[in-house]
Amino acid sequence: MLINLNGNLVPKEEAKISVFDHGLLYGDGVFEGIRIYSGNIFKLVEHIDRLYDSAKFINLEIPISKKEMIDEVVKTVSANKLSDGYIRLVVTRGEGDLGLDPKKCKKVTYFIIADKIILYPNEFYKNGLKIITVAIRRNVSEALDPRVKSLNYLNNILAKIEANNAGSLEAIMINQQGYVAEATGDNIFIIKGNNLITPSLFCGVLNGITRATVIDIGKKIKMNVIEQTLTRYDLYTADECFLTGTAAEVIPVVEIDTRKINGGVPGKKTKIIIREFKKFTKKLGVKIKYNS
Ligand code: PMP
Repeated sequence: MLINLNGNLVPKEEAKISVFDHGLLYGDGVFEGIRIYSGNIFKLVEHIDRLYDSAKFINLEIPISKKEMIDEVVKTVSANKLSDGYIRLVVTRGEGDLGLDPKKCKKVTYFIIADKIILYPNEFYKNGLKIITVAIRRNVSEALDPRVKSLNYLNNILAKIEANNAGSLEAIMINQQGYVAEATGDNIFIIKGNNLITPSLFCGVLNGITRATVIDIGKKIKMNVIEQTLTRYDLYTADECFLTGTAAEVIPVVEIDTRKINGGVPGKKTKIIIREFKKFTKKLGVKIKYNS
């Protein structure tokens, strides 16, 4: 496996960064997780746009242009001859001293890993997930806006630990106002009648690339797509529910806090959306040319 470290392809064993890197010491950095489907890097441009927006928010200047970053991603996937897989693109503040001042970090670090992906086992796509809401609140936007995909994921990890401790596979996080935000690494949607509803971005959620794709699919199949505030009441009384994310794709939810959704089986409209999503994954993105 070849890793792209600051533009150089190096064997995995040689892909090392300093223990003084502030990405490690302080979670000071940003990242993206991106999928490759049949040689197509799904919505790569949208992921790169979000990466540069996250970097701008934390006042981190990525040393190469978006176009160059796209080329680096393509170069990495092509060198690893991957036609289906997952890319992790990370940009950190770089090496500094033991204080947290980012001014001391003179050179931004970036690296790109292209690897195979481990999914939820197939049975969960077929039978759906049983999930819970957890006590830990989603970060407030005034402290660390959840729209920033930063390396600081402790808020989400604490929620995941609560789910693990309760024997549940995923957690739904509620925001400071009591409204539903998102899962630990996925956005959430509910279906009520012909309405496809997801929490608005101001509820404290990542502007998910899969979320945007599903919104487009909803419009295409003539559902009323609504972004609004949701409470636990809306979740428990939903006709259908599912999560969306680059790694999880579209996965049905069949139980929330012991309340069965759609009688405990994946819903009909959810299945249609999953089918449509699969078609989209081959179409939208940047196609790879592999060096023979
Ligand atoms: N919310 C959070 C907190 C996430 O980490 C992710 C995964 N990146 C998502 C939502 C889903 O976003 P996307 O569809 O862009 O992967």
